[in-house]
Amino acid sequence: MKAITVEPRKPGTARLADVSEPNEHEGSVLVEAVAVGVCGTDIEIVDGKYGWAPPGKTHLVLGHESLGRVIDPGRSGSLQKGDLVVGIVRRPDPVPCPNCAVGEWDMCRNGQYTERGIKEIHGFMSERWRIEPEYVIKIDPGLGILGVLLEPTTVIAKALEQVVIIGRRSFWEPRTVLVTGAGPIGLLAALGARSVGLDVHVLDRMESGPKPDLVRALGATYHSGSVRELGFEPDAIVECTGVGQVIADSIQAVGSSGIVCLTGVGHGGVVTAAACADIAASAVLKNNAIVGSVNANKRHWYKAGQLLARADRRWLSGLITRTEKPVNFMQALERRPDDIKVVIQFAEI
Ligand SMILES: [Zn+2]
Repeated sequence: MKAITVEPRKPGTARLADVSEPNEHEGSVLVEAVAVGVCGTDIEIVDGKYGWAPPGKTHLVLGHESLGRVIDPGRSGSLQKGDLVVGIVRRPDPVPCPNCAVGEWDMCRNGQYTERGIKEIHGFMSERWRIEPEYVIKIDPGLGILGVLLEPTTVIAKALEQVVIIGRRSFWEPRTVLVTGAGPIGLLAALGARSVGLDVHVLDRMESGPKPDLVRALGATYHSGSVRELGFEPDAIVECTGVGQVIADSIQAVGSSGIVCLTGVGHGGVVTAAACADIAASAVLKNNAIVGSVNANKRHWYKAGQLLARADRRWLSGLITRTEKPVNFMQALERRPDDIKVVIQFAEI
C-alpha cells in the first residue's frame, strides 16, 4: 500500500512510498484512511527539524490528524464496519509516570510518551492503518470529512478546560476572551469560547481572506492590529501564534486575575532579564496566571467530539480550505496565504 513516509531529521526525504500492510500488533482494528490533516508539526518533521522513527526503523509514516473508515472492527464490541473514526495520537509512557498511569498522558511527566506520526509510532498517512480499540474515537457520521478536524479540536478542548480549572482559584466571572491567531487552532478556540456564550475577539495579521469572515460568522469580533491596540482588557487570552511579541503583549494586556493560556510553539528571540522581570511584575500585580497547554487525553477527545457534533457544519467546512491527493502531498505541506486547514484525502467519503 502507499504511505507518506519520512526519515526523521533528514530534510528532503519525504515521499509517497510503497510500504507493507499494517501489522496486527499495531492494533486489532483495521481502518481505511479517508483523510489526514496537515499541520505545522508535519512541516517541521518534513523539514528535518523534528520527529522520531519507530525503534529499529529508519522511516516514519507521517500524519496525526486522522479520519478513517473501519474495515474490520476486530475484537472491538462497539465498532462496526463502515464507522467513521479518528485515532488518538499519544500513548502513555511505558514506566508509566503517575499522570500516564491515570490516563492523563497529555500531562506526561517524564517525556517518554510516544505519538503516532510524530514520535516512534507510525502515523495515519497510509492507505490503511491499524489501531488499538481503546484509542479509537467514533465520530458523528454526519460530520463526514469534517471529522478530520477532531484532533486540532482536542487541543482546544484541553486548553479551555485548563482555563476553567485555573479560574476556580478565585471568584471569576469571565466575559471577554481574546484569541491570538486565526489559524485552525485559533478559530476552533473561538468556536469553543462562543459555544459557552463568551464575548470572543480574534486577532490575526491577515486583513482580508476567509479568516475575518469566519470569525464574524461566529458572532465574534475580528482585529488585525496588535494586542496593545485592542482597547480593552480581556478576562482570558488563548495564545495560538507562538510569536514572542504577541505572547509578551498578551501577558501585559490581560485583565486583573486573568488567565493567559499558551498553545502556540514558537522559536528564537532573546528575552533580556529586565523584560522578563517586567512581564513577571505585570503578572504579580494583577494576579495573572500564565499556563502552557499541549496535547489532550481521552476526556478532551470526548469533549471535542461533542463540540464538533454541535457546531454549524457549513462554518466548519470553511476551515478546510484545500484538499490534495496523496501524490501531491508536497503541495499540501506548502503554506499559502489563504490556507487555514489543508487536508490530504486518501479515499472518498
Ligand atoms: Zn508519562
